[in-house]
Amino acid sequence: MGRHFLQIPGPTNVPDRVLRAIAQPTIDHRGPEFARLTGEVLERLKGVFMTSGPVVCYPSSGTGAWEAALVNTLSPGDKVVAFETGHFSTLWCELAARLGLVVDVVPGDWRHAADPAALADRLSPDVAAVMVVHNETSTGVRSPVPDIREALDRAGHPALLLVDTISSLGSMEYRHDDWGVDVTVGCSQKGLMLPPGMGFNAVSEKALAHRGRLPRSYWDWDPIIEANRRGFFPYTPPTNLMYGLREALIMLEEEGLEAVFARHDRHAEATRRAVRGWGLEVLCADERAYSSSLTAVVLPDGHDADAVRRLILERYDMSLGTGLGRLAGRVFRIGHLGHFNDLMLAGTLSGVEMGLAAAGVPIKEGGARAALAYLEGSEGSAGLEV
Ligand code: PLP
Repeated sequence: MGRHFLQIPGPTNVPDRVLRAIAQPTIDHRGPEFARLTGEVLERLKGVFMTSGPVVCYPSSGTGAWEAALVNTLSPGDKVVAFETGHFSTLWCELAARLGLVVDVVPGDWRHAADPAALADRLSPDVAAVMVVHNETSTGVRSPVPDIREALDRAGHPALLLVDTISSLGSMEYRHDDWGVDVTVGCSQKGLMLPPGMGFNAVSEKALAHRGRLPRSYWDWDPIIEANRRGFFPYTPPTNLMYGLREALIMLEEEGLEAVFARHDRHAEATRRAVRGWGLEVLCADERAYSSSLTAVVLPDGHDADAVRRLILERYDMSLGTGLGRLAGRVFRIGHLGHFNDLMLAGTLSGVEMGLAAAGVPIKEGGARAALAYLEGSEGSAGLEV
């Protein structure tokens, strides 16, 4: 009984309003009604990426959009510099290497952000692109994209800046144009409050002009941008997700992006206060790099994070994020992004607190209470529409 708590850091809770929009009858994707829908969605999407340039949409997961960013801009054997921030940055590097790119990885400890100062030594003339994950979903660490841009500018280096904003778009401040990003990779199932199934590339003028020679067909931006001018796609688009996307974008506009960011910042701060109140550690070791869309919580030695997650699912019907890659069993992740409000956070933290205690993890009293005190004392948003 009652609602399941889907508190993984994506896919996130889909608002009923978006579900209802998706439930409309499927229409002709070559007809006039769909052309109008495409035009409206593509225009509104620019707002959330904060760009005046094109946003290319794919029926894909985020991984497809990663691949699209690389095959459209790079050539076989090109060198790319990539920051290791966690599991997802590692997967993106592996994908790049499989495509025949030479990947120079700036190593990281999975607890700190990408360090722009590390770029200076690596920016040899043959570097074609720099890849960074803005919000590393496996660790809850945010990297400073504007500082990475600045490091490239200071070096006067022409490399393209490719950024994954999959778990920050529509949740945390992100500005494609102002931050000088060349390709921004996003997808539907996190801050955009949609089910999985759509991937995005926001593309700068420089990236459009700077096309690589890697083989591409399905992912090729050109035929998509060309068909989009008339409101269509060169393949069958995910018509019903487009309805949902329009509704989700309207919801974000109604709340206002700055308010959306502030809501996420506030929920993230409350969550960290709960974690500290329990006497546990937030995985992110630098407060400047805290993620506002998720928090990874480190368990004391001898305690299995997945056993805690299992117990919480069985007893309280709440899903939390698992530890990925080298963090398996060591951390669990609390997603506090997307369609989410104070009481949903209160319920989430109560479930975590009860679950930790039931699993025998030694915690201090008052973690959830510390979060509630912070919520009480700081101005929050009004109720969210469902
Ligand atoms: N990049 C980041 C930061 C992610 O969090 C994810 C998935 O969670 C991906 C890429 C891969 O996206 P997908 O699983 O939709 O292919």
